[in-house]
Amino acid sequence: MARLRRSRGIVLTARDVQETDRLVHVLCEREGKLPLLVKRARRMESPYGAILEPTNYVELIYYVRGGPYLLKEAHLLKHFPSLRADPAALGAALTGLAFAADRLPDGVPEPGAVELVGRFLAELERGLHPRPGLLAFELKLVSLLGHGPHLAGCVRCGGEEGLAWSPEEGLLCRRCGGTGEEVPPSLWRGMRMLSRLPLRAAGRVKLPEAALDRALELLQRFPASASRARP
Ligand SMILES: [Zn+2]
Repeated sequence: MARLRRSRGIVLTARDVQETDRLVHVLCEREGKLPLLVKRARRMESPYGAILEPTNYVELIYYVRGGPYLLKEAHLLKHFPSLRADPAALGAALTGLAFAADRLPDGVPEPGAVELVGRFLAELERGLHPRPGLLAFELKLVSLLGHGPHLAGCVRCGGEEGLAWSPEEGLLCRRCGGTGEEVPPSLWRGMRMLSRLPLRAAGRVKLPEAALDRALELLQRFPASASRARP
């Protein structure tokens, strides 16, 4: 018989499966990221579809079994109403949570990641500038997981001239084999500042929108070996 377990965590992602069910990923304090099947979540009478929305902090009671665990009950512990009322902040939150869901392995406790995700949401609610905030969050998360890019010049020789980006290694100068479009010094130095400053100070780093887009795109597939294919 399947075991029942109780956990607390932050809902990272939720997507519809089958006709009325939903598959959610919750980042839990003790258990790491859990995949959870919520039966009939999209039926009118089910309260769980609304409770298990990304960004919500929830308590869960669920059956442990092979494949995604099966939800029995969920309770809302905390939500972020003013974040939900601000489309730019909500967009940054949902993108950051999906990035975290993609990077965190199932069932491996990552207490630092729970703390970082909670702080990202709380700072967004307090008015963190969404786009540099999102980039700072993603940089801090990959660094926490041991996959952060080296942002002090070429990863091989330390050179600072004419750096390009390798999806496997990060910043590479031309002599060390870097190819493609240059990553300007203002961009990689901005990324380095964002990775070091406290999250709440991310708005102090002034990067143009196009530079923020480029940095988020570089990180999306970095390192190529650590990005898992989505199901
Ligand atoms: Zn080099």
